[in-house]
Amino acid sequence: LAKESGGNQICFYDPSIQAELEERIWIEKELHLALERNQLELHYQLQVGKHNQPLGAEALLRWTHPEKGPISPGQFIPLAEESDLILSVGHWVLETACKQLKAWETHPATAKLELAVNVSARQFQQDNWVEEVQGLVEQTGINPQRLKLEITESALLTNMNPTITKMKALQELGIRFSMDDFGTGYSSLQYLKRLPLQQLKIDQSFVRDLPGDQEALALVETIVAMGHALKLDVIAEGVETQDQLMCLTRMQCSHYQGYLFAKPMTATDLIERLTGEA
Ligand code: C2E
Ligand code: MG
Ligand code: MG
Ligand code: MG
Repeated sequence: LAKESGGNQICFYDPSIQAELEERIWIEKELHLALERNQLELHYQLQVGKHNQPLGAEALLRWTHPEKGPISPGQFIPLAEESDLILSVGHWVLETACKQLKAWETHPATAKLELAVNVSARQFQQDNWVEEVQGLVEQTGINPQRLKLEITESALLTNMNPTITKMKALQELGIRFSMDDFGTGYSSLQYLKRLPLQQLKIDQSFVRDLPGDQEALALVETIVAMGHALKLDVIAEGVETQDQLMCLTRMQCSHYQGYLFAKPMTATDLIERLTGEA
């Protein structure tokens, strides 16, 4: 009871809130340890163009807890974003991705692939972010033209001016940008025009409802038209069926990512898959 536990202690009576709070604390503590113990991993999901041509891959973070098993990034990334933990996790992701990109250079099947890396708003908002990325590019010796940073619409729309300045500095180095989960936020054409983007990534929630849903059809058609008007590539994420693919192709969207082509896999499996095809 509250009285018994003393005046300055916070007490939760709702067991579900209590459990949620405990889980958050647990995840933060364990994620910190996982980073120190090198228990995080990147998987890579293929991105293809017309006729299944491999164009690149997206790096996706994987965490397998020694006792609890796999924990999905959808669960732990939002929590990490509430603290500075996302900064060290994000640094590890970018460093690991750059090393992988460098390793790909030595293999004919992967030498030309681009690598897309997810970046959180918190990372982007660091004052020294441009220097951090530049440092990693130099340390790993990658070709920055092969590196693409994926940022969500909402992350790009907060603090727009400093964000644009940073994006432009990174663009000078050759790095490209994709707007992730596009269509779920509120970007106007006006905003889009100001951002130095190379790509729009259609959110999977729209792709999922193709080809049957009229609203999804209209939205995807609009996004593709917007992208092309601004001379951007448009990639669809979450493509799972042949029908979705045909529909997207008909709408002139010619870059795809999804289980229909490949699930996220280890770097070793990706090479195997690509050499199998060659
Ligand atoms: P996202 O960047 O939009 O990534 C796409 C998500 O869709 C991934 O989930 C991917 O595994 C999943 N996916 C790919 N193809 C299909 C498909 O055909 N069908 C379905 N149903 N799903 C598909 P994942 O790996 O669980 O990641 C979830 C989110 O976590 C990502 O969404 C991204 O926002 C975040 N995330 C993952 N890795 C990182 C990272 O290294 N850094 C940051 N900041 N966020 C990350
Ligand atoms: Mg992404
Ligand atoms: Mg996405
Ligand atoms: Mg998403």
